[in-house]
Amino acid sequence: MLIDTHTHLCDPVFDPDRAEVLERAAEAGVGAVVAVSETVDDARRNLELAERHPMLRPAAGLYPTILDLDQCAEMERLARHESARLWAVGEVGLDYWKVKEADELELQREIFSRMIALAAELNLPLNVHSRSAGRHAVAFLLERNATRVQLHAFDGKPASALPAVEAGFFFSVPPSIVRSRQKQKLVKRLPLQCLMLETDSPVLGAEPGTRNEPAEVVTSLRTIAELKGLAVEAVAEATAENTRRLYGDL
Ligand SMILES: [Zn+2]
Repeated sequence: MLIDTHTHLCDPVFDPDRAEVLERAAEAGVGAVVAVSETVDDARRNLELAERHPMLRPAAGLYPTILDLDQCAEMERLARHESARLWAVGEVGLDYWKVKEADELELQREIFSRMIALAAELNLPLNVHSRSAGRHAVAFLLERNATRVQLHAFDGKPASALPAVEAGFFFSVPPSIVRSRQKQKLVKRLPLQCLMLETDSPVLGAEPGTRNEPAEVVTSLRTIAELKGLAVEAVAEATAENTRRLYGDL
């Protein structure tokens, strides 16, 4: 079974044909899809969608460019209330690409810190964004003793990833790896035991600017197998096992 460990299935771009999208995923061998949230509305919507689409595993989290303490408090309330139905706290993290002002960065770190504490309190994995902040996000998580961590679409150098590997964090790989030298280099250097599959649908597809979808995890799978010189089946099995180690039985 393949698992898409990071996707924005609540995005309105999927409203016209979400059921067909998930059907195609099932046909491609996908058994579960972790549906991350960027806002409180997203989190509510993912919980609602999971009732209609049993393949979805809802996650609740505040995206690192949403610098809103009221929404952060609302997310904490919602996650505590719905913790039994949630599979992760995400998408949360640091983004130094879009956020650059000192006061905004401080707020971003405060919110991430609260999301890390929330995941620990609810014993849920963290589904982490770290655009242009890979090294900083890893250090930040380690300082706060986070243990169950997925770094999604990590854009840092292999050297920045190594402390995370040592800490037992996982790295999920999107289909955009086919066009990213940085991601190819990273996957070559990382042990297979810390890799998982994701799509980040509707973005980060193999073709820039076209809608990505969960069935495309096979592109990540094939590319990892190629880069590592392994059989596709071996990588499918290893990434599924890694995902179970972080999430339990999805
Ligand atoms: Zn995302």
